[in-house]
Amino acid sequence: MGHEELLARHRAVMPDWMALYYDRPIEIASASGRHVTDGEGRTYLDFFAGILTNAVGYDVAEISDAIRAQLSTGVVHSSTLYLIRSQVELAERIAGLSGIPDAKVFFTNSGTEANETALMLATRYRRSDQVLALRNSYHGRAFATVAITGNRSWSASSLSPVKVAWVHGGYRYRSPFRDLPDADYVSACVADLREVIATATAGEVACLVVEPIQGVGGFSSPPDGLFAAFKEVLDEHGVLLISDEVQTGWGRTGEHFWGIQAHGVTPDAMTFAKGLGNGLAIGGVVARGDLMDCLTANSLSTFGGNPLSTTGALATLDYLLDHDLQANAAKLGDRLIGGLRRIAEDRPAVGDVRGKGLMVGIELVGPKGEPDALKAVAVLEGARERGLLVGKGGLYGNVIRLAPPMTVTEDEVEEALGTLEAVL
Ligand code: PMP
Repeated sequence: MGHEELLARHRAVMPDWMALYYDRPIEIASASGRHVTDGEGRTYLDFFAGILTNAVGYDVAEISDAIRAQLSTGVVHSSTLYLIRSQVELAERIAGLSGIPDAKVFFTNSGTEANETALMLATRYRRSDQVLALRNSYHGRAFATVAITGNRSWSASSLSPVKVAWVHGGYRYRSPFRDLPDADYVSACVADLREVIATATAGEVACLVVEPIQGVGGFSSPPDGLFAAFKEVLDEHGVLLISDEVQTGWGRTGEHFWGIQAHGVTPDAMTFAKGLGNGLAIGGVVARGDLMDCLTANSLSTFGGNPLSTTGALATLDYLLDHDLQANAAKLGDRLIGGLRRIAEDRPAVGDVRGKGLMVGIELVGPKGEPDALKAVAVLEGARERGLLVGKGGLYGNVIRLAPPMTVTEDEVEEALGTLEAVL
């Protein structure tokens, strides 16, 4: 089947709202390291890495070997009603890495389910359906997660099983407090949080859910320490703090293993997914034991924590830690951000270059600083023409997102910078 026929058949049978990147969408036929090759034989440097799922790159021998060894047992899946060795080991590892006291872990198949589970835990624990979320957030597209997603272009439904109130903090570049010094920005957001709790919630609040760096929202992060300041307010009211680490986990931010650690605060729960499986579907929640155990009904997932995904995830975690990829993310992330800031100097269309580690955002603006989504589309297409895959995002669709596998090399960062300089 040729490319045109595949595209036509996709459009006929898949929902209209299932958007594909590019005027001429790509089919990835093979991949290795940081490179992917499309169905027509063209190779690209991948700086979006399957939207951050391929944390350590494609076709990594150690991970493929572990998966093959599991396949050779004949057990792709058994019921999660039975003991699964790799599941227990992975849970122990993640509990240990979480920094959460007495942590327990529950596995899902996706970030959405992980956040749905976290919301279930928090609302049940607090016996409240009132949730706080950051403006410009993205937490998934199931019923409760879409309700706490603060970007209406992702909204599949205006109905909601939870009550949601929104607070400032995540998207600084277009916040009313943007030009304040860091400490004043933090104070302004804390005052906003207090006011929202006092005036815009239905009494007792279950939790606040945050992304340490807003992913889909355009790789935007608040000053370090904001979430510790938030936690003080939350503690006054007994409100739980949940950190959505679906994009920021596993050392991608360079300076810390979990994004929330930049704030010097331990959350009550964290959710994770994406990079952990290096392409296999896995997600989960790690939470304080008493919070995790507050559910009384039987709770299981058919595939969450299955033998194949947890085997792949264990191998990925080993690879990440053995090769200190967090340090590589810090070093090459700095180089990427530094290079982009230099490129931005004489380009007024670049309003902001931001991020941490290998989560780098470029906000494109018009002459008056207004969001310019068409420029983002042009950069996306232009980079693809020159052999570089990047992402797009942001509340107004005007942010280019760079998130290569954490194994990326200096040469590849330089190559991407050269391409982006030409395109911008
Ligand atoms: N949380 C965050 C921060 C995300 O970026 C995403 C996915 N973009 C999700 C949750 C949902 O994850 P999934 O697509 O695996 O359901």
